[in-house]
Amino acid sequence: MNSITLKSRAKINLSIDVLGKRQDGYHLVEMIMQTIDLYDLIEINEKDNDQITIKSTSDEIPLDCNNLVYKAANLIKKTFNINKGVEIHIKKNIPVAAGMAGGSSNAAAVLVGLNKLWNLNLSNQQLEKIGLKLGADVPFCINGGAVLASGIGEELTPIKGLTKDVCILVCKPDLFVSTKEVYECIDSKDIDKRPNNKFLIECLKNEDTRQLAENMFNVLEGVTMDKHPVIQQIKDIMTNNRALGAMMSGSGPTVFGLYENREDAVKCKAILEKQFKQTFVVACEEKGVEVNG
Ligand code: ATP
Repeated sequence: MNSITLKSRAKINLSIDVLGKRQDGYHLVEMIMQTIDLYDLIEINEKDNDQITIKSTSDEIPLDCNNLVYKAANLIKKTFNINKGVEIHIKKNIPVAAGMAGGSSNAAAVLVGLNKLWNLNLSNQQLEKIGLKLGADVPFCINGGAVLASGIGEELTPIKGLTKDVCILVCKPDLFVSTKEVYECIDSKDIDKRPNNKFLIECLKNEDTRQLAENMFNVLEGVTMDKHPVIQQIKDIMTNNRALGAMMSGSGPTVFGLYENREDAVKCKAILEKQFKQTFVVACEEKGVEVNG
């Protein structure tokens, strides 16, 4: 039996701007995304039958055709007329519905994995095109690293990312946020403060983490924070405990802080962990999906 296991990594946003809305309802964005070394393990086992089945260590995600890994496998099967089946096991570490693209990254791993398992010889560019049918973040998740994403998030310009020595403290409060609902609350015409992406990209280029951290901005943060003040509380705990800056990722509710000093990040993790189980200290990563081992 053929099988493959892949790391499927999460992302954080160092900025999000919303520039408008397409007629189909998708928002036009300009945002900086950075892969981090927090990952799910996606094990794909080929089966003799024609079925796609899913198992997971998490009870927070669907195990049927609503799971993004199911949709990814099904799309590959349909596009390339493949009659084989797979059992996909998702070992979840990335918080669910967190603003860290966990589902998109799992889907990206299945595309990369099946491309290898079934010798489809598709280029990453071809995989990105297929991935876009599953979600706007999927193309980014395939390659990962650091990018300026525009369009609906699928036009990717690689940029220099955070340096490996920057410690990222990630904290996901125990509440559910719907990405769709957050975007529905935002009208680009009413936004009065926006990130200066050009400046942020310069900061990354110059490895000036302090300036970067002080100027990160996410236009979605206010929307989610209005409903969930705990986001401000987590930001305050981080900045009062030596973070250079702290911000919500994606549509939330995950908050991350950037630290120059690992000891400080670990100390703050210990404080946050008392209240928020899903708290991690991680570094940035250059690769999105990677074959494990
Ligand atoms: P994004 O940052 O791309 O908006 P997110 O981190 O906010 O994503 P996900 O973890 O991808 O959110 O989950 C969003 C929804 O998708 C959840 O309600 C979840 O039930 C569903 N979902 C479907 N498949 C998966 C999967 N493989 N992993 C996580 N969530 C999934």
